[in-house]
Formats: sequence, C-alpha cells, structure tokens
Amino acid sequence: MIEVCMLASGSSGNAVYVGTEKTKILIDAGLSGKRIAAALASIGVNAAELDALLLSHDHIDHICGAGIMARRYKLAVFATQPTWQAAKKRMGTIAAAQCCYLPNCGSISFADLEVETIPLPHDAADPVGFIFRSPQHTVALVTDLGHITPYIRQRVQDMDCLIVEANHDEEMLLNGQYPWPLKKRILGDKGHLSNKTVAEFLSQVVGPKTQQVVLAHLSEHNNTPQLAFSAVCSSLKKSGHLRPEKKLKVSVAARHTPSCYLRLA
Ligand SMILES: [Zn+2]
Ligand SMILES: [Zn+2]
Repeated sequence: MIEVCMLASGSSGNAVYVGTEKTKILIDAGLSGKRIAAALASIGVNAAELDALLLSHDHIDHICGAGIMARRYKLAVFATQPTWQAAKKRMGTIAAAQCCYLPNCGSISFADLEVETIPLPHDAADPVGFIFRSPQHTVALVTDLGHITPYIRQRVQDMDCLIVEANHDEEMLLNGQYPWPLKKRILGDKGHLSNKTVAEFLSQVVGPKTQQVVLAHLSEHNNTPQLAFSAVCSSLKKSGHLRPEKKLKVSVAARHTPSCYLRLA
C-alpha cells in the first residue's frame, strides 16, 4: 500500500505526504508547523508518527516550516549537503542527530519504502525530485524545474502516480504584470515548467501502469487550474493515454488545502 496526499502546493507553500504500512514521511515543509499538522490530521495522520522530513531544495516555499517540524516532532531531516548549507540559517537549530544527508542522485531506504533522488535543473543550491517505491507501487514527485533532462525522462517512465509541476501558461506569464527579469527567470532553463512543456512530457512518460497524474505548483498569477488541466488532457488524449476505458485520472493540486489524496492498495 502507498498513500499520497498534496497538503499544499504552489509558491505560497508546499508539503506532500507519502505513507506506506510501516513508513510515514513528509516531503517539504513550506507552511507553518500548525498548518502541516492540521492538514495531516485531516487525512487521519498524526504528525507525531512521521518518520522523516525530506527537503527537495532550499527555497522558502519548501522549507519555512521545516525547523519547527523537526524540533516539535523530533524528525530526522534529509537534504543534500548544499541544501543543508543554504537552508540551515532559515531553519534554526536542529540537533546534529536529526540532520541526515541525501545523495542528489541515489537512494535511501526506510522500512518498506525506498526513495530515489533525481537531480533537477532549478535555481536553488542542489534541488532534487523523488521517486518513492513501495514493494508494489511507484510514485514520482518532480516540481520546481526549468526543463526536462533526459535523465528525468528516463527515470519517471510509467509510474503508478506522477506528481509534476505545471507552473505557468506561457502567454499569461508573458502578458502579465511580473517584471521582465522575473519572467526571464521563470521561463529560463532553471526556472519552472510551463503547461505546454509538462503536457508534452506527460504524453511521453505516462504508461499502462499510470493511474494518477497530479499537476502541482501552479502559479497564482500566471496560470489557472483549468488551463493546466486542459493543456495536459488534450495532449494525453492525442497520445492515446486518456481514453474512457483507461483508468488514468488527471487532477490539479489545491493551493492551500489537502488535495489529490490517493491510496494504492
Ligand atoms: Zn517552489
Ligand atoms: Zn523552488
């Protein structure tokens, strides 16, 4: 069994729950400890039972509640060494015994859950994506990246569940209010993925096993859930992946509330 839930998603804060029979982990803690605990409680998970907190990268929307979660629940915190370096100050003191290192391209194991890391192109110290493997299922989590590398494409083929960033609609971003340097950053190779890029990517990596695609980290100003959803669905229809007789479901993660709960038994 593997359970996944988006607790919050977007530049106002990110946190994802992944659980199996014997392991409960939190990925990123970009909102207050209180809100994370409440979001977990809403899906029947007690924050005190978490085994670990994994950090994808050092941006504030992924770590602002990490220090408090680590201290309050005595969590082991896993991050790559450059992420630790960059995030340490913002997280406050965390006991040395709780500070654990992640490889940026490798794997670590919990009781019945293996976690593989994938290096991502993004303007942070050492950002990573994740693949979670229980004995029967696979879930990939890939957000905050400027483009799809061949390695990412190769690693996330035919997952049971694929959580991927659909950050912006290019036209909305280009015609919007953001200053040009910020637009350039978002559109750049180490920025964020557009609906169009992710739609194309998904048509290449969704496979016969894939049950759920979750579109995550949507921009509040440069995207809408409808635009992201229809870009991805029309691409998946064209590639033959989204047909009435198939089990594939596409959903969009909510910004502030727990969403896209999935339990694969
Ligand atoms: Zn982010
Ligand atoms: Zn980021």
